[in-house]
Amino acid sequence: MIAKTTVTSTARLVEVFSAIQGEGLNVGTRQIFIRFALCDLRCHFCDSAHTWNAPLNCRIERSPGLRDFEIYSNPVPLPILVEWVQRQNLPSLHDSISLTGGEPLLHAQFLTQFLPEVRAITGLPIYLETGGHRPEQLAMILPYLDSVGMDFKLPSVSGESHWQEHAKFLQLCHESYLNVFVKIIVSQNTDPAELERSALLVADVSPDIPVFLQPVTPLIESEQFSPIPALAPAPDRVLMWQALMKQSLKQVRVIPQTHKMLNQL
Ligand code: SF4
Repeated sequence: MIAKTTVTSTARLVEVFSAIQGEGLNVGTRQIFIRFALCDLRCHFCDSAHTWNAPLNCRIERSPGLRDFEIYSNPVPLPILVEWVQRQNLPSLHDSISLTGGEPLLHAQFLTQFLPEVRAITGLPIYLETGGHRPEQLAMILPYLDSVGMDFKLPSVSGESHWQEHAKFLQLCHESYLNVFVKIIVSQNTDPAELERSALLVADVSPDIPVFLQPVTPLIESEQFSPIPALAPAPDRVLMWQALMKQSLKQVRVIPQTHKMLNQL
């Protein structure tokens, strides 16, 4: 007789901590952040290049907001991650759980098991931050999500091009009645024709979907991945771009990364 074995799901993590969300629709709210390792994109402006490869260890905040990190080795078994999130979940402190990275959807298989469990235990809404280019993996976890912040990668700014995937991804979110918004990083290199194309693509799904234009936060040279510097756009150009996109969309807001201003993680 073959012995029955139980395989425990694991994930490769970068960190777990409690902080203030600095971007998009949830800006200013308090979240438990689960930062997953690995990303399959290479955006020129990336400020999370340390997530591209899975590190040997991850850091886990013991007490929410105190930055009293402990180091654990990767990969992390599912029940341990649930325990860490529970430890963060002090009564009434958090508004939601943020799945971030890297690209969290590279862990879709793990998330299909982790999300129903962590939702049931914490009762907190689940928010996904994603590059918006993996609709098949999104479909696997849609029933467990409450909101999605999806990036639109402008080729002129990011060096990445995923128009078809973005369209499919946004359609899926919209059809599932998820609270979805789009984030577009803009820089001095932004091609307005790509912004116009993005606006039309979003409007085609629904003109009510909020779009956030986020002027790039310039990185210090030593951290920069790309030879093309990602510099913040001039104020008059941002005004023009917002006006351009508002021709087809109802909500186009301009908000920089506020967590950098607050010196948050
Ligand atoms: S998708 Fe995010 S983590 Fe991945 S390269 Fe782009 S900015 Fe960096």
